[in-house]
Amino acid sequence: GRKFFVGGNWKCNGTNEEVKKIVTTLNEAQVPGEHIVEVVVSPPFVFLPLVKSLLRPDFHVAAQNCWVRKGGAFTGEVSAEMLVNLGVPWVILGHSERRQLLNESNEFVGDKVAYALSQGLKVIACVGETLEQREAGSTVAVVAEQTKAIAAKVSNWDNIVLAYEPVWAIGTGKVATPAQAQEVHAELRKWIHSNVSAEVASSVRIIYGGSVNGANCKELAGQPDVDGFLVGGASLKPEFVDIIKSAT
Ligand code: 13P
Repeated sequence: GRKFFVGGNWKCNGTNEEVKKIVTTLNEAQVPGEHIVEVVVSPPFVFLPLVKSLLRPDFHVAAQNCWVRKGGAFTGEVSAEMLVNLGVPWVILGHSERRQLLNESNEFVGDKVAYALSQGLKVIACVGETLEQREAGSTVAVVAEQTKAIAAKVSNWDNIVLAYEPVWAIGTGKVATPAQAQEVHAELRKWIHSNVSAEVASSVRIIYGGSVNGANCKELAGQPDVDGFLVGGASLKPEFVDIIKSAT
């Protein structure tokens, strides 16, 4: 079985005080055990040490990005080695906000995923189509192409969680229907079956992101190929606990 995975992507939000409050809420929450659900929260880089030091031991932290190769003269970047050195186990790579606003290409994301894995990080790799691409009927082709660029650089998928995040659903309140999410997740698994291996297809977790909240998570979680969530806005609120609980 694939263990349910709930990630909270805080994006570029939070003050010291707010971060402490969110962590306190999470630390006090009654949630299913670590054998049922894996919970990872992803604060901005600057809050990683604080969150790591305060967060309950059964929850883990992720960075929201890292540099594509070994660190050095790359002003403003944070390397995979630094995250490992800090004891940060996870990193989110290829988020659509970075693909779109910072022009990260499929190949660049593939390189980042491969390098992060090589340094011992676990990776939440994001894929997803725009509204225009969906309306043109190219959803499956787009996410397959994004996944292909990762598969081309990676041989071991044990430490990858694939996040399907349709761009039109992110921060819009327009959540994918359970059927829409299930359809793309099943297509991704099929693509992995044909192009990576049957083993990886059955073991890799494919999580959904885009306007997930405490009210819509349960039905989405019931879909056979939805193995968890990557939550943005709602991960800053107490309802993130309800989303974690949708694992059972
Ligand atoms: P929202 O949950 O705010 O739509 O964001 C989703 C997301 O981008 C998570 O990475």
